[in-house]
Amino acid sequence: MISFENVNKWYGPELQVLNDVTAEVNKGEVVVLCGPSGSGKTTLIRTINRLEPINSGKITVNGQETHAKSANVNRLRREIGFVFQQFNLFPHMSVMDNITLAPRKLKGMSRPEAEEKALKLLARVGLEEKAGAYPSQLSGGQSQRVAIARSLAMDPPIILFDEPTSALDPEMVGEVLAVIKGLAHTGITMMCVTHEMGFARDVADRVWFLDKGVLLEDAKPGEFFSNPKHPRAQRFLADLR
Ligand code: ADP
Repeated sequence: MISFENVNKWYGPELQVLNDVTAEVNKGEVVVLCGPSGSGKTTLIRTINRLEPINSGKITVNGQETHAKSANVNRLRREIGFVFQQFNLFPHMSVMDNITLAPRKLKGMSRPEAEEKALKLLARVGLEEKAGAYPSQLSGGQSQRVAIARSLAMDPPIILFDEPTSALDPEMVGEVLAVIKGLAHTGITMMCVTHEMGFARDVADRVWFLDKGVLLEDAKPGEFFSNPKHPRAQRFLADLR
């Protein structure tokens, strides 16, 4: 579903942020991307839907080369849900309008149809009663759950999460992880950058460990947590304990 072939990216001449990344994500899989701060995790996930350009290599999503000149970026972004650390809800719109905007504008869905779907999605994230609320009236955890519902409204085959709980107060992390867990293994392909290693252990099919832009490990969680191959990953896990 997603493939990286020898992907390289620099920020300026000095900083190589992705170093020859080659890996694949199968349809319906959950991949958790972890690694030290500054290792390139956010950059990597943002290259998939071209929020970041790459310098060389190839990224393919569902058979389409995403960084090709001919790639249709709008279509790509319609097919890939993206959940940001800071939620990025439209502040001047109600929860309902946040969720229905893209299906109405980009898919031509009628307002009643889009609203019916939004209510189902809000029920799925446990926030039916917030349809008329504005983002400023929501907690961080509620905002992130709305952002997830908004992504799902386009029925994307892929959803990417960039540190979805790192801007939240600790007591709200669990409610957001529970929603993400509920989506896992329902057919949607998921990649999640996170420091929540309990979540990785419980939910991931595979864990990718990135260090200085190099993908050092691509392993099943059982292997990664009990027997990381690379010393850098061993140190990373030891530091978490
Ligand atoms: P992570 O998500 O693992 O913390 P990032 O992908 O955010 O890592 O960043 C990797 C490195 O690239 C860091 O050294 C960061 O400072 C640098 N970086 C990130 N974005 C930019 C940018 N737009 N311009 C220059 N350097 C950047």
